Amino acid sequence: MGSSQWTAERQELLNAAHEMCQDGLVLGSSGNVSLRIRDNERELIAITASSIPYASMELDHIVVIDHDGEPIVGDYIPSSELFMHSAIYRARDDVKSIMHTHSVFASALAVSGMKIPAILDEMVIAMGDEVAVTEYAHPSSEELGIEVVKALDERSAVLIKNHGFLGVGKTPNEALNICKLGEHVSKILFYSHMLGKVDKIPESIVNAELEIFRMRKLS
Ligand SMILES: [Zn+2]
Repeated sequence: MGSSQWTAERQELLNAAHEMCQDGLVLGSSGNVSLRIRDNERELIAITASSIPYASMELDHIVVIDHDGEPIVGDYIPSSELFMHSAIYRARDDVKSIMHTHSVFASALAVSGMKIPAILDEMVIAMGDEVAVTEYAHPSSEELGIEVVKALDERSAVLIKNHGFLGVGKTPNEALNICKLGEHVSKILFYSHMLGKVDKIPESIVNAELEIFRMRKLS
């Protein structure tokens, strides 16, 4: 099949990958972005290619693979984190796009093993009651996919232990916005710790905001 397939979807993915880099959420070719593609009965994944700096990434560098990593469109090697992306799509039917970043403040929390509690209203509405930290698993391993699915649960963001951040959404742009918000909240939590006090949002408010989060996922 020619590389002209799913051009609109791949372009949407490419735009999000470029913005992820411009926003400083990754360095060089690290991180990755994917989009679920339903092709009749088949489930496919469009994903950024491995080892291509985002600054020079073009449409040809967005490849389409099946869940076993077999190439469908494109000649480039898919991201080495394809196991992780595939594991999330298998576990979460509501997820249509995934972005994984190495942004500094989120990665610092992931190194400390410090989860993000419900500290900002916009965070709970967009991500869920907290952002948990996974158990450590080696990058690119199938085990990492298992740990990410476990810690992500029904939420839209997770901190990857000693590694970075991951956000999910219905579109690449939504996953990008989760990653941007994740870095913003991580930075605020970092500074709150420096001030010596971290107050969470009252539980009744968190529960009400969680309802909004769940309704948005279903819409
Ligand atoms: Zn990574």
